[in-house]
Amino acid sequence: MTVTHQILHDRFGFSHFRGVQEQVVDRAISGGHTLAVMPTGAGKSLCYQLPALIRPGTGIVISPLIALMQDQVRSADSLGIRAAALTSASDNPRAIRDALRDGALDLLYVAPERAATEGFSRLLEEADIALFAIDEAHCVSEWGHDFRPDYRQLHSLLDQHREVPRLALTATADRRTRSDILVQLGIPEEGLVVAGFDRPNIRYHVRPRDGLPSQLKSLLRDQPGAGIVYAPSRDKTERIAEQLRGPGRSALAYHAGLDHGVRQRNQGAFVASEDMVMAATIAFGMGIDKPDVRFVAHAAIPKSIEAYYQETGRAGRDGDPAEAWLFWGAEDFARARRRIETEIEPDRRAGERERLNSLAAFVEAATCRRAILLRHFGEDPPQACGNCDNCLDPPATIDVTTVAQKLLSAAFRTEMRFGVAHLAAVLAGDDNEKVRQFGHDRLSVFGIMDKDELALVRPVARSLVARDALRTDDYGGLSFGPGAKAILKGGETLVIAVPPSRPSRKRRGGDH
Ligand code: ADP
Ligand code: ZN
Repeated sequence: MTVTHQILHDRFGFSHFRGVQEQVVDRAISGGHTLAVMPTGAGKSLCYQLPALIRPGTGIVISPLIALMQDQVRSADSLGIRAAALTSASDNPRAIRDALRDGALDLLYVAPERAATEGFSRLLEEADIALFAIDEAHCVSEWGHDFRPDYRQLHSLLDQHREVPRLALTATADRRTRSDILVQLGIPEEGLVVAGFDRPNIRYHVRPRDGLPSQLKSLLRDQPGAGIVYAPSRDKTERIAEQLRGPGRSALAYHAGLDHGVRQRNQGAFVASEDMVMAATIAFGMGIDKPDVRFVAHAAIPKSIEAYYQETGRAGRDGDPAEAWLFWGAEDFARARRRIETEIEPDRRAGERERLNSLAAFVEAATCRRAILLRHFGEDPPQACGNCDNCLDPPATIDVTTVAQKLLSAAFRTEMRFGVAHLAAVLAGDDNEKVRQFGHDRLSVFGIMDKDELALVRPVARSLVARDALRTDDYGGLSFGPGAKAILKGGETLVIAVPPSRPSRKRRGGDH
């Protein structure tokens, strides 16, 4: 048995390495710089913990969240690894510094903003360093979904210790982010190690949101086990928890606005439970060790495909079948697009828009969801996985270009300030009071849609908003986005999956 395997067995209690762990560990032990891209749950911590035990000196771990650091220190402690976190919350920073100088620590966790300081760099001059581990390394890239400028400062600290191996770790990095991390942290191409991203036991489902409470309730009826429902705001987590709570099923809320004690208690109850539903903001889930989460549902779109993969990845870590549900609405995309234009610095908007477009393509797709996810992470998966909604029940697709053109013309003729209900009324030739009041019964688009077309107006509007051909204002008024012209002029066709509530599905069901 090699020393490495011995330690894996004796200190960590594992009989084998998983996936790329051994490759990453070996590189670090032998002094190579590495970027390990490994999905959540693949066992990244071990990749730096083990080499830090074998190499002389202390492993310096850069980690972005203090709460996460404390969890890491606790779990290292339980393995008999001598670990500490140097943070504003440490009550004995001097003792920690002394321990570092004396070589009495295996691991020291530190936040990037502290690592980048002059003081920390001086402290490291006096210490023996086993390796640098840079956790959540995508934060170094502007292309990543969570850019943290402090990560940019790390390069100079690392360069003061060129001989010390660097191990950057991340669960979420598309191809462009990866190359950027390599450059930013001075890691050579050959140091890139990517684990397989497929989570074959997770079954993906994506549905337009259409009466969320009843959608969630019917999902829960057939879904045993504990699960998480991610909601976009604190209020919504509480409302959803209330709606789902019922006989035989407990449901709690979790968000950053709750008292620390309540959060701890709710989290503890969830971890211990076998069938609880946690309605939570994305603050929930990081660093929680619960392998038997049976489902993750999103009540609205996640921030990006990376975020979606990460959040759904909290389901089924035990390898047993698990479900991922995503309920989306056009307003999710509208809100996200407004946020990009108002809250994101101008030079980062293009990247954010692209990320949102990838997400729109994912939710709208009529093809294998898993294939789309895996291609996003640079893999070359089979066309169909057999374990997602689109593979299991291939949706019929329908060319809705004409409906889209009529809807866009109606928006244009009514001066781009009315919502979808009014536009549908105009297109239906419905001369209600509002239509007459604005003189919309005299427009050329009045009454130009038949019943079948009208049934498609909402799904088409949703699709146009998702792809930024239509934009919504605060009152739901629809106006042209950059993609409108191409569709209106016939340069681009619009094909969507036949919406689930349409009769064609029933017909198919009636075949057996
Ligand atoms: P990540 O940070 O990649 O999400 P963790 O480091 O938290 O993953 O590890 C996830 C879980 O896998 C932990 O419970 C850990 O103890 C376990 N684990 C890690 N490596 C192995 C291994 N080689 N064999 C079995 N379990 C492992
Ligand atoms: Zn599939």
